[in-house]
Amino acid sequence: ASADPAAGAAVKAADRAHVFHSWSAQGLIDPLPIAGAEGSYFWDYDGNRYLDFSSQLVNTNIGHQHPKVVAAIQEQAAKLCTIAPGFAVDVRSEAARLVAERTPGDLDKIFFTNGGAEAVENAVRMARLHTGRAKVLSAYRSYHGATATAINLTGDPRRWPSDTASAGVIHFWGPFLYRSAFHAENEQQECERALAHLEQTIAFEGPQSIAAIILETVPGTAGIMVPPAGYLAGVREICDRFGIVFILDEVMAGFGRTGAWFAADHFGVTPDLLTFAKGVNSGYVPLGGVAISAEIAATFDQRPYPGGLTYSGHPLACASAVATMNAMAEERIVENAAEIGETVIGPALHEIAARHPSVGEVRGMGVFWALDLVKNKETREPLVPYNASGAANAPMAEFAAACKSGGLWPFVNMNRTHVVPACTVTEAEAKEGLAALDQALTAADAHTV
Ligand code: PLP
Repeated sequence: ASADPAAGAAVKAADRAHVFHSWSAQGLIDPLPIAGAEGSYFWDYDGNRYLDFSSQLVNTNIGHQHPKVVAAIQEQAAKLCTIAPGFAVDVRSEAARLVAERTPGDLDKIFFTNGGAEAVENAVRMARLHTGRAKVLSAYRSYHGATATAINLTGDPRRWPSDTASAGVIHFWGPFLYRSAFHAENEQQECERALAHLEQTIAFEGPQSIAAIILETVPGTAGIMVPPAGYLAGVREICDRFGIVFILDEVMAGFGRTGAWFAADHFGVTPDLLTFAKGVNSGYVPLGGVAISAEIAATFDQRPYPGGLTYSGHPLACASAVATMNAMAEERIVENAAEIGETVIGPALHEIAARHPSVGEVRGMGVFWALDLVKNKETREPLVPYNASGAANAPMAEFAAACKSGGLWPFVNMNRTHVVPACTVTEAEAKEGLAALDQALTAADAHTV
């Protein structure tokens, strides 16, 4: 990338003039001006190129600027840019068919949205109307989106400022052995106790009042906690027993991230509703959706579904999804994610953890890994306190800065860094990024005690 700092400065000044950014104190941010991106890399105007180990917000599963997806968007733009959701259009039908073909079980009807939060909103609405019940259970340590119900369902601090509208949302603890809420000593205990806790929560809330349980199949932003064997099957059984709709949120875990089309495939579990977004088209055009079981779809056969969006099933978004799913199949991209995870990333991270006192735990699968950074491996005290900011968060900020100066763009959340490159990442790129990560972890090690 050729440097043009003046152009970068102009881009930043224009941003600061009028762009209002997500999740930020507007006066305290310093957005990096981006000149371009390709595959696993993006670059700025100062000649710095970054290997993207974050996949942006864990969405560029197919990498940046995949030529087949770019071409599909261009072709669709020349043919039909937009059409209202009420019409039948080839590219929307094909996107729905390809998603339905990949989702587990009988999740064969697809309601398209513009992203993940809207998918969650609509899944909850469907569950409430289908059951005639109001409450929804979700997990602490989760993220489900930033709209009204989705943020209330979220089990992280982003919920707190918007909590007042959380009527009907109840949080419970999911399984997470490393920081067990159940004093469990092994995965089997953690699984049994987490299921018993969920059953007790249901009993005390009143099973007949609960419309749905929503879980990320593998919780993402909250720390990539792969559920123990039997947990999701246990939740499925509890839902069946009490007539509760089981919603799996695969917005982050879906479309190759875990080395399978859907994370649910690893656990042999079929939910009643499955939400997706991000990897369905790598975010080239905003798109999400809900995959709906035959039984829930039938609820709305004769009765209108009271929900819709001007851009539901937008042609440009659907064209990019069709091209993405086809390219992922043709180029064995899901298989690549599984292989790189098993043979390169997983082993390297375990080896890194053994050498760095700040790495408390390594967990994940596919191209979906977390390092839990700690002050001390024995006590497991997090490297920074929960929801730390400012000076209290300095160890993580220093670690992130060390990554960036080594040419690696990291994903950082609280006391964790996640290794979430594109599903297309090559062995050489993965090794390059892991070497930079290894180097940057010395900045975290300096804060161990
Ligand atoms: N659900 C999960 C599991 C997510 O990870 C996210 C976003 O990170 C969302 C929902 C919200 O998606 P969006 O930001 O597209 O609204």
